[in-house]
Amino acid sequence: MAICSECENIVPDTRGAPGHAGLVSLGPVRSLEAVSRKAAHEAFVCVVCDTGWDHLDDKGDPTAGWKRC
Ligand SMILES: [Zn+2]
Repeated sequence: MAICSECENIVPDTRGAPGHAGLVSLGPVRSLEAVSRKAAHEAFVCVVCDTGWDHLDDKGDPTAGWKRC
């Protein structure tokens, strides 16, 4: 399925960029990246277009944010 317009509007790799209302959290991800950076890693899926997203919250990295997976 094609990505929906709301997912298209998400700005990836930018700290503080908002997601959208159709993203449902799948819960925290225990990844090596998150542990080694002491960042919060959470997985999301869009209920509109089924696109998977990863969200990384790292205070020290302005490029940590939304990433399609
Ligand atoms: Zn979507």
